[in-house]
Amino acid sequence: MDLRDRPEDEAFRKEIRAWLADHLVGDYAELAGRGGSGDEGFGFEVRLRWERELAAGGWTCVGWPAEHGGRGASVAQQVVFNEEYARARAPGRVGVMGEGLLGPTLIHFGTDAQRARFLPPIRAGTELWCQGYSEPDAGSDLANVKTRAVRDGDEWVVTGQKVWTSYAQWADWCFVVCRTDPGSSRHKGLSYLLVPMDQPGVEVRPIRQVTGTSEFNEVFFDGARTTTDLVVGEVDDGWRVALATLAFERGVGLLGDVVGFRKELDHLLALARRTGRSRDPVVRQRLADAWIRLSILRMNTLRSLTGVDGPVAPPEASIAKLFWSTWHRDLGELAMDVLGAGAGVAEAFPYELGDLQRMFLFSRADTIYGGSNEIQHNIIGERVLGLPPEPKVAAKGAP
Ligand SMILES: Cc1cc2nc3c(=O)[nH]c(=O)nc-3n(C[C@H](O)[C@H](O)[C@H](O)COP(=O)(O)OP(=O)(O)OC[C@H]3O[C@@H](n4cnc5c(N)ncnc54)[C@H](O)[C@@H]3O)c2cc1C
Repeated sequence: MDLRDRPEDEAFRKEIRAWLADHLVGDYAELAGRGGSGDEGFGFEVRLRWERELAAGGWTCVGWPAEHGGRGASVAQQVVFNEEYARARAPGRVGVMGEGLLGPTLIHFGTDAQRARFLPPIRAGTELWCQGYSEPDAGSDLANVKTRAVRDGDEWVVTGQKVWTSYAQWADWCFVVCRTDPGSSRHKGLSYLLVPMDQPGVEVRPIRQVTGTSEFNEVFFDGARTTTDLVVGEVDDGWRVALATLAFERGVGLLGDVVGFRKELDHLLALARRTGRSRDPVVRQRLADAWIRLSILRMNTLRSLTGVDGPVAPPEASIAKLFWSTWHRDLGELAMDVLGAGAGVAEAFPYELGDLQRMFLFSRADTIYGGSNEIQHNIIGERVLGLPPEPKVAAKGAP
């Protein structure tokens, strides 16, 4: 495999690099990479303006086909975009749910009217989305969704509770997996509804996390309404659509993350040298190990994207998720050991955390969201190695 840019990718790299150099100035530049995981509220208004600046330059939704308003960028070019974005320390994106999850889902499963209504404002950064999947009893076991939608004339009436809903406090819309066939169980009888957030039947309660910020929320639907034309796919066949959305998570974005990981590791290496912690034989071993594993992650991610024109397939996707999340969690622990006793002290009153502290605390979530490590092991055990399926506990009332 040749890991160097092809001439057309190199030209694309120069174009985005030059655009970022010209536009990432003033208060955008001041954010310097802030607003990522564990820091999502930081400079939100500036980041929203930045999203629209990106859109005006044609740099949102670069991987969407041109006929849907994207640039039709190849997978290699999307990787280049994400790498350059991270390298320039551009601010954390606010439109990721719409661009990365809902948009591709609508392109594949939506009606023409849904695409015409929802894709342009996602691309322009004028409508933000959140993902209403998880519930108190439906996380890893998503098929246990209990939120229900009942038909009332031309509308669906939605009632139930979602949890861990990232960005719901800023979102205009939510794509909600809910039960539309009241007699159904498990993955049958679910539908995929697009629900406006700004209405009396929706209440968003932020959950304060150990980072001190609230990336995610509880979302209560109590008679919330949406129109019947806003079901994606067929009514009662939402499971297929919901799984397709999950398959769009990560993929090409991971190489941008790898650039960000590399910056974190470089920061840690510089700190270890400066403070003398790099002389500790165990810390040295762990720093070298982190560098080696990150190189493996980069090469394996490039390999898994080679020849791919869409979501990465399950075995590779599971390996990648396990590998990067475990790597990043370990880096967080190493960062705390390099910081030493100071790791436990906030930078400023009352709870102002430093970059490494924030990274350590948020990285605890990496092995949970997007499919926990245990679930990835199950997928590989059952679907790749052909091991016996794990025993299933029958739901209450199930035959
Ligand atoms: C930062 C963050 C952001 C998130 N954002 C969103 C969002 O925007 N929208 C959304 O819908 N959800 C979101 N989630 C929720 C996420 O998808 C769930 O946390 C995840 O699916 C796990 O579900 P759970 O938390 O209910 O844990 P559970 O499913 O209850 O799992 C608890 C533990 O049991 C283990 N476990 C569960 N089942 C099995 C099994 N069969 N075999 C072995 N071990 C098992 C798990 O690995 C885990 O360790 C987010 C989560 C986090 C941490």
